Parts: sequence; structure tokens; C-alpha cells
Amino acid sequence: MRGALRLGTLLGIPVTINYTWFIAVWLVAWSLAGSYYPQQSPGFDANTYWAMGIVSAVLLFASVLAHEFGHALTARRFGMRTHAIMLFLFGGVAQVAEEPPSPRAEFLVAIAGPLTSLALAAALYAVSPVLGDRALGTIIRYLAVVNLMLGVFNMIPGFPLDGGRVLRALLWHRSNNLPRATRIAARTGQVVAVLFIGAGLVVLSRSLITGLWLVLIGWFLDAGAQSSYQQVVLRQGLGGVLVGAIMTRDLHTIEPSLTVERAIADHFLPHKHGGFPVVYGDHLVGIVTLQDVAAVPSDRRAEVVVREVMTPRERLKTVLVDDSAYDALARMMQAGIGRLLVLDGRGELAGIVTRSDLLHVLRLRGGLEN
Ligand SMILES: [Zn+2]
Repeated sequence: MRGALRLGTLLGIPVTINYTWFIAVWLVAWSLAGSYYPQQSPGFDANTYWAMGIVSAVLLFASVLAHEFGHALTARRFGMRTHAIMLFLFGGVAQVAEEPPSPRAEFLVAIAGPLTSLALAAALYAVSPVLGDRALGTIIRYLAVVNLMLGVFNMIPGFPLDGGRVLRALLWHRSNNLPRATRIAARTGQVVAVLFIGAGLVVLSRSLITGLWLVLIGWFLDAGAQSSYQQVVLRQGLGGVLVGAIMTRDLHTIEPSLTVERAIADHFLPHKHGGFPVVYGDHLVGIVTLQDVAAVPSDRRAEVVVREVMTPRERLKTVLVDDSAYDALARMMQAGIGRLLVLDGRGELAGIVTRSDLLHVLRLRGGLEN
């Protein structure tokens, strides 16, 4: 997600905060200071309630962080890296880099978060009587309830919630078919999302904030279910394929000193490619696309040379021959481009891979499976 602020690194994992997190902290602090704490623990002044609200909101997100570390540290035990843990409007997410290697790994990684939350809830309940009815005791009791809710809410069996991952692990274990297990878990996630939206609409007339909140969560879950499913399908289809196996090796290259006019006449028109690597000797210096040459006014195409309009090598997005096709797709989507030059181990040009090469692999694999 864009708009993330890096907070620091904890236990070797970067922790980032999305700007929507600040909205959540404010909403939580406001609702606690404005109504929850005055009802639960009367007799303090407004400033104290606000201080209690802010401290609670920050500790709530520390609880979310603990939950996510439960996932990330368990993932690490199975050799899966975590890019980052991000806090945002609806809580947190541990961005685990790899798909779980086995149903057992998926099950344990998924359940580790809710178990962490439930253990925290139990510990907080245990200490709360000692702290009595003063401000601190009230905050600790609130956090115990919140951790209990975090544990229970996340076990709702719909992808992308933890319960959905547990469901997927069980289905995967039974059927040995990951795409099918993912499809069912994602469908269940969408049903859960619709239930949230429905409940939100029912509640809306009585409590605007709660109603909107439920609708928003449902919306978020629905989008999450869809995109996790698509990602799994793509990763499944492309993950085991190396770029070197599907790239085009026999490249048409262009010299940097060629005029745009000649490049169009001799290369773009006869070969119908959208772009060509620009090579000097056998050294890659850049890439020139149809858009690059088309942007040159026609009366200047005889003077302007390719070097002046190409994207130079240092700004090129590239992949290596032994990167996976899924990595290539992820990089193309991130950069919003349709082709990547492929480099060999020495950093020299080995080929080119395009979005249609990747689509071809997906279609081929889909066709072979059915
Ligand atoms: Zn979780």
C-alpha cells in the first residue's frame, strides 16, 4: 500500500504505518474519551479521559503489532520472510513474501496471530484486578476486551482473515489442491463481507458510525478476498517458471546513433514490436519504445537520434534470467510497463520478456490443467 511511513525495525522486520492509521488512532481515542471511559469509570475530568483514550489507542495498536508479529515470527520458522508489518485503518498486516510451503505451515502461521491476541487477553485479565478501578486498571480491562475481540474476529472463516487461512489450510490438507482451497476460502470471505455490509446497513438507522464502520469493513474484506485469490492464481501459474525459459532470446536491437526516422522505417514498421533494446557494440545502453519515437514531431525525425529519446539503462526496470515469471509480472505491474529486459549473470542483455509472454504461460498452464 502506498503512503506508508517507516517507523523502524523490530526483531529484524521493518514496521511501517499507513497514514490511515492516524485516522484510526484518532477515532479510537475520541470514542473512548467521549463516551466509553466516562461510562465505564466515572469521576475523572475531560483531560484525563482524553489522556486515557490516547494511551489506549496507542496500546491497541501495540496489541495489533503483537498479533502481526505472532504471524511473522511463525512464518520465519518455516523459512518465509516478511517484507514488513504495516499498521493501517483496520489494524495490521504482516506482508509475508512467500506462499506457505505446506498446509501445516499455513495453518500454524495463520493461527499464531489470534493465539497471540488470546494469550495477551488472558494475561491482561489476570493482572487487571490488581490494578483496581483507577485509570490504569480501566485501560488494562479495555485492552483485555480488545485483544479478545482481535483473536475472535480474526478467526471468522473467510479469506483474507486468519480464520479464512485456517480454513484454506484444512481444505488444502484434505484435497491437496491449493487453487481450489483458495477459491473456496475466498468465496467464504466474500459471503462474510456481504454479511458485514448487510449488518452495517441494518444498524445504520440506529447508529450511523457503527453502521458505516461495518459497511467499510465488509467492503475491505471483499476487496481483500478478491485480490488474494487473484494473486494466488497468478503465483500458482507463474511461480515455478523461470524468466529465462519464456523470454525471447533472438532480439532485434537498435543502435543509439540511428535517427528516429530510420528507426521507424527499418524497425518499428516492419517488425511490429512495441519497443527495442538499444545496443552499442554488444553493450545494452537503453530501450526505445513506439511512444518514445512517436513523441518526436515528424519534421524533426530526420535529425533526432534514438539515444536522445530512449530510456537510458540506469533507469530501466530489468529482471534476471533466473527470476521467476511471477517476479517479472509483479515488477511490470509495479512500474506500469509491458516489457522488461532480461539480464544474465554478468549483467549483459540476454533477452526480453513481455506481458503477453506471461499471459501465454498462464493460458497454456490453464489449458493443460483442464
Ligand atoms: Zn492475523
